[in-house]
Amino acid sequence: MLSRERKPAGDAAETRDRSSSMWLAQFDGSLAPRAALAGDRDCDVAIVGAGFTGLWTAYYLKTLQPDLRVVVLEREIVGFGPSGRNGGWALGGLSGTPAAYGVSHGDERVARALRATHEAIDEIAAIVARERIDCGFVKAGALTLATSAPQWQRLQARQTDADTAGLPQAPDARLLSIAEAEAMVAAPGLRGGRFTPHAARVDPARLVRGLADACERRGVTIHERTAASAIEPGRVRTAAGGLRAAIVIGATESYTTQLRGKRLAYLPLYSLMIATEPLPEGVWAQLRWADGLLVDDRHHLFFYAQRTPEGRIAIGGRGAPYRLRSPIDEHNERNAAVRARLVATLARAFPAAADAQITHHWGGPLAAPRDWSMGVSFDRARGLGGAGGYTGHGVAAANIAGATLADLILRRDSDLVTLPWVGHRSRRWEPEPLRYLASRAIVGTLGAADRHEDATDRPARRVRLLRPFLPPAH
Ligand SMILES: Cc1cc2nc3c(=O)[nH]c(=O)nc-3n(C[C@H](O)[C@H](O)[C@H](O)COP(=O)(O)OP(=O)(O)OC[C@H]3O[C@@H](n4cnc5c(N)ncnc54)[C@H](O)[C@@H]3O)c2cc1C
Repeated sequence: MLSRERKPAGDAAETRDRSSSMWLAQFDGSLAPRAALAGDRDCDVAIVGAGFTGLWTAYYLKTLQPDLRVVVLEREIVGFGPSGRNGGWALGGLSGTPAAYGVSHGDERVARALRATHEAIDEIAAIVARERIDCGFVKAGALTLATSAPQWQRLQARQTDADTAGLPQAPDARLLSIAEAEAMVAAPGLRGGRFTPHAARVDPARLVRGLADACERRGVTIHERTAASAIEPGRVRTAAGGLRAAIVIGATESYTTQLRGKRLAYLPLYSLMIATEPLPEGVWAQLRWADGLLVDDRHHLFFYAQRTPEGRIAIGGRGAPYRLRSPIDEHNERNAAVRARLVATLARAFPAAADAQITHHWGGPLAAPRDWSMGVSFDRARGLGGAGGYTGHGVAAANIAGATLADLILRRDSDLVTLPWVGHRSRRWEPEPLRYLASRAIVGTLGAADRHEDATDRPARRVRLLRPFLPPAH
């Protein structure tokens, strides 16, 4: 067992404030940083980043080969990044497009990949139970609402896509009539809905921090407040020393863009959230919203919401402006306009909760690759690997990525290492100011398209102009 050198309480309080995430703010365990790396040290596998990707990789490595020396370096504290701030949707579904992976729509590899994402939800459930991670995990599925004719058309197209692809989700992800959708959540103005059972609600901070504890119980060493300045074959450099390791794994998702030579690897897109105070049972009864059910909609700038384990509504959405000079910056994590839009969305979609106090507002950077498709890579010759680019699917996808990286490192001939995203590398984003202009255009055009569709009930054609820059759902 690791000995944890506790720092003064001020450090933990500062981290809670800086992350601004409700999940970390209400976290009831200690956030005092673990000991930083001091000096040089050898290990077998060095992992940079203590979010879901880094920790699942470490967890599977030590589970499969307990004598391996695995060390994780984290610049802040475990879960400081999006892993400790997200919407808590553990959702099945591809984090990418078959075309980007060079496979055709009906290919059996697409079906296998999709099945792997569904299995990841049950895998997370099993580990949460085995490791006794109290993170409010409930697999109650996800309901997508359509509140306009164009949204309903998009839902139907998505279902047709799934049906014609012969994907394993087809029999159980289904369209809902207005009455069926209304029976699940009392939202006004519905045109229909879609339900998938392959989704679970979690408190992401409790999951990621519980996972870190489980890693430590298996002998993983985690150093917090330790920033890697360079990730190289055989070595990770930090200001206070370095790790020598045969294998080095980068697990810094959107923050990868801060590393030398990686600025254009992803578009760091901010997703922002708000949370209400805990709602009384009467309000939940009016909403008819079962515990654990996840709810989103099909606006282009869609919202995603969960009923939290404490009975709050936590709801998020994209649309925060991208800053040219500081694409990743703590100033981007709160935004008055996005907050106001989320408050309005909450009142519109869930009127019974319209008067609830908003107690938290926070956000973080998503990593969008140029082709919006995740990748898991491992170069044995150089001993370098990594994964990311999950664009909002990271809670489930990082579990798959971590298990896959462990199999690749340990030369395990598993099904996971043959999935389409293994070895996939998206091309880079256009250099600035083009990436900046593209991201501004995406946010501006999608917002305008939503306003047009809400006002006219007809599809906004302008979205087509953005097709070269957009993820598949558009
Ligand atoms: C507001 C929001 C809502 C989201 N909602 C969902 C959702 O509901 N469902 C879903 O599936 N996904 C969601 N996502 C995306 C998901 O959270 C991420 O894809 C996922 O957490 C990425 O995990 P990761 O471990 O790869 O990266 P991260 O969680 O970003 O972890 C990387 C870690 O690396 C550390 N780090 C960075 N640079 C260095 C360095 N130089 N040295 C050492 N450490 C470093 C960071 O501090 C960080 O802790 C959301 C994201 C945001 C921001």
